[in-house]
This record gives sequence, C-alpha cells and structure tokens, in this order.
Amino acid sequence: MSMQAIIDEGEKYLLHAYNRNNVVFDRGQGVYLYDIDGKKYLDFCAGIAVFALGYANKEYNDAIKGQIDKLLHTSNLFYSEPTVKAAKTIVEATGLNSVFFTNSGAEAIEGAIKAAKKYAYNKNKSAKHEIIAFEHSFHGRTLGALSVTGNIKYREPFLNDNVSVKFANYNDIDSVKALLNDKTCAIILETVQGEGGIYPASESFIKEIREICDKNDIAMILDEIQCGMGRSGKMFAYEHYGVKPDIVTLAKALGCGVPIGAFVLNEKYSKNSLVPGDHGTTYGGNPFVTAAVNEVFNQFKKRNILENVNEVSVYLETKLDELVKEYDFLLLRRGKGLMQGLVFDTDKKTPAEVSKKALENGLVIITAGSNVLRFLPPLIITKEDVDEMIVKLRASF
Ligand SMILES: *Cc1c(COP(=O)(O)O)cnc(C)c1O
Repeated sequence: MSMQAIIDEGEKYLLHAYNRNNVVFDRGQGVYLYDIDGKKYLDFCAGIAVFALGYANKEYNDAIKGQIDKLLHTSNLFYSEPTVKAAKTIVEATGLNSVFFTNSGAEAIEGAIKAAKKYAYNKNKSAKHEIIAFEHSFHGRTLGALSVTGNIKYREPFLNDNVSVKFANYNDIDSVKALLNDKTCAIILETVQGEGGIYPASESFIKEIREICDKNDIAMILDEIQCGMGRSGKMFAYEHYGVKPDIVTLAKALGCGVPIGAFVLNEKYSKNSLVPGDHGTTYGGNPFVTAAVNEVFNQFKKRNILENVNEVSVYLETKLDELVKEYDFLLLRRGKGLMQGLVFDTDKKTPAEVSKKALENGLVIITAGSNVLRFLPPLIITKEDVDEMIVKLRASF
C-alpha cells in the first residue's frame, strides 16, 4: 500500500483521537527511522521518551525473541523468572522495597494513588482523602491519572469525584503548604515535568516536599515515567536531589518499546498499603515484557548509557543555548540531561510549525505545552547526531 492509502485507511478505521503526522514509519535503525518510501529521519522523539536504546538493538531484540519462543504469559497467579528478576533489579536500582508491574504509565499512577489512599485508609478507616498535585503536570489519561493531571483542558470533561485533588504551583512550596490539611494523603509530582513544558524541580522544592511528607506521614509520589530510566543523567531523576520518594512510577523507557510500567514502593508503603485482593492486572509484568526490562538494564550497563547521557547532554545544552542567543523567537532553554526544551515567543513563531517543518526536513521532534519544543532523543545519541539535528532544526526555523 502507498503511504497515502495507509493514511486514508487509518483515518477511516482508527478513532480520530490524535492529529497524526502524515508519515507512515516502516523501520528503525539506531537513531534513525525510515518511512515506507525509504525516507530517513533523525529521531529526537524516541517514541515519546521510550526508545532509550535506539532502534533495532540486536541484543535487546534477541532477548525478547528468545522469551517469545519460551513463554509469553502466565498471569500473576504464578511466578516467572524474568518477572522476579526484573523486580529485583528495579528494587536495587531505585533503593526502594517492592514492585508492582503494570501495562502503562497511567496504570502505574493508578496503582500509586491506590497505595497512598490505602495507607491513609488503614490509619483512620476513612476514604475521604485528598491529593496535592501540580499545575502543568501530566500523569496519564485514565480517570485516576487524569484527576491528578494539571492541564484543565484534558481533565474538564471527565472530572471525577472518586479522587479529591487540589493543584499547587510547581516549584512554589508555599502554594503546597496552603493546600495541606489533615485529609491530605499524598503529594504527587514529576521530578522533571515533561508534557507540561519541561520544568525541572528545584532542589529546595523537592527537599521541602520530602520534609512535609515525613512530618505529616503522607506519601511522596514521584512520577518518573518520562524523566526516569537515565534520561536526566542519573538512573532516576530524584538521585540529583538526594531524596527518595515513598513511591515512584516508571514506564516509557522501562521496557524500551514493549508496554510495561511499574510502581515501586518503599518499605513503609510495601507493608502497609495494598494487600491481596486490593489490586491486580492480567498482563502486567508478564515474562515477555519483563524479559525486555532485564535486557534494558543489561544494555544500560554494557553501553554505559548514563555516561553517554552526561557527556552528550552538556554538548546538546551548549548547542541549544547558542540557538537561544541567535534567534529572537527563542526565549530560553530548560531541562535536565537528554530531556530539554526550547521555549518560544509564540507571537513570533510556534513550536508546532517548527515541528511540522522539521518532519519535512527529516527530523522527528515534538512539542510540550503550547510554547516548548521538546528534545527527547534516544539515550545512545552522539555529538555528531546533535550536530545533524542542529543543522536540520536551523533549516526548519
Ligand atoms: C507518558 C506519561 C504518563 C502516562 O503514561 P502512559 O503509558 O501513556 O499511560 C504519565 N506520566 C508521565 C510523566 C508521562 O510522561
């Protein structure tokens, strides 16, 4: 089928819940994608921060192919070795205590909220608890995850009374204190806000939230679905701040292409929240997807992914800062590691039009919020890839 024929059929048969770009991708290799006409694209989106290892990584592909031939699925009524191994690896990497695997990021958020609510329920047998979340946050599209998502445009038609949420301003600790009361059971935030516009948390903000949660015995939930798994330059972004959350949520690059998420709990929440009967999933963390997770962690070690992120991100920042100096429609750069944003003066130019033009020029790059161009390359990129991106980006300006 031709590209246009596939697009036309897609528009006919898929619910129009996305404004998709007019490209049909066919295959990937390293940091490049190819459409079905053979056109090559440098990928600075990585399937929205998923493909940390790049495309067609042979060892990763072999690991999941091997598991396909062995055993794909058993349900969570039984044990499987890849699942147990992945849980152990994640516990050791996060410094937390136990893992619940999910199929997506949104489900990881659902589970984290349920764990926080159950812990609070156990204390006073009341379910009337409140959660503090943040403006510009993004936590996913299921009803619970949407309830803690800051963007009112996403939330408004689906407002949900089951989860009582108040929104504070990110990096503004006084706005958090103003919402805190004896019903608060959790504070949930991204360590670096992604979708809302690439805002890293300040050190004092994260530390003060940790203190508030300790003092009031409430859950500090960090959503690292986008900023975790090495993207910030540390395996988990909270390591930059010298704190640990009570619960962390992971997905996206956890599986590097297979659908898996997780919420990971510290000892307090592992032992005093969800018990058998409280939560479940048929597919979550089956041997297929956890075999992928195990190989992802292998590859991170083997390819020194964190070192690469730290080295190349400094270069990327320098190059983006040069653009900010040069172009009057660019206001500033924000980000951490290989999660960067360029903020636009949208009266002069919009990131959406640049993203569209970039695709024509063979560069895949997406936006965040209404005024930010978002850089989420595979974590294996080199300085040469950054140079190539800058050339294509300039052409798209
Ligand atoms: C993508 C994302 C989610 C939702 O993950 P899905 O797998 O799309 O459900 C939640 N939180 C953050 C920070 C994300 O970036």
